[in-house]
Amino acid sequence: MAEDPAPAEASGRGPVAEATGGGSAAEAPGRGPAAVPPLPSDAVLGEWMALALAEARSALSTGDVPVGAVVLDRDGTVIGRGRNERELHRDPTAHAEVVALREAAAATGDWQLPGATLVVTLEPCVMCAGAILAARIPRVVFGAWDEKAGAAGSVHDLLRDRRLQHRVEVVAGIEADECGDLLTRFFREPGRGLGYDAGDR
Ligand SMILES: [Zn+2]
Repeated sequence: MAEDPAPAEASGRGPVAEATGGGSAAEAPGRGPAAVPPLPSDAVLGEWMALALAEARSALSTGDVPVGAVVLDRDGTVIGRGRNERELHRDPTAHAEVVALREAAAATGDWQLPGATLVVTLEPCVMCAGAILAARIPRVVFGAWDEKAGAAGSVHDLLRDRRLQHRVEVVAGIEADECGDLLTRFFREPGRGLGYDAGDR
């Protein structure tokens, strides 16, 4: 994935630092409004999470930890799908979120996804939170908490770190039981090393 070494402000693309949970309507010059999209109903969020869960289940076929993600544009159209592919590709960076972000960026032809929502079955880790920030995603919806490695409110809260230029609205706990159970069952299988303990929030 190509990187843009230039700071956002110097690139002329404009920061979307105000695209936070407050729903402010910061303008990204040349890019149109960069506001957080309207929050969908719980029913719609559940439908989106069902798509992410389907991705997570597909990861089981390659022995990967079942985590899945989808990226939706402002209109709710899926523009990226991903599931954990670390084992499949022997790639430590092939987390569901990164895979989905790459697909969404390829689909839109833009590394910035300012109107998009990323939906993932498990709280993003530090790496994925970094990728989400880099993509200027304004909202993340996740299922289960990850008390061991979460970077969206558990161990860290990078997505809402006020020291950073871009901040992300976080909607947690959507279909959390189903998302967590999938992981718990996976790690209960014989021979699995590291476990998963869902946070109770
Ligand atoms: Zn991750």
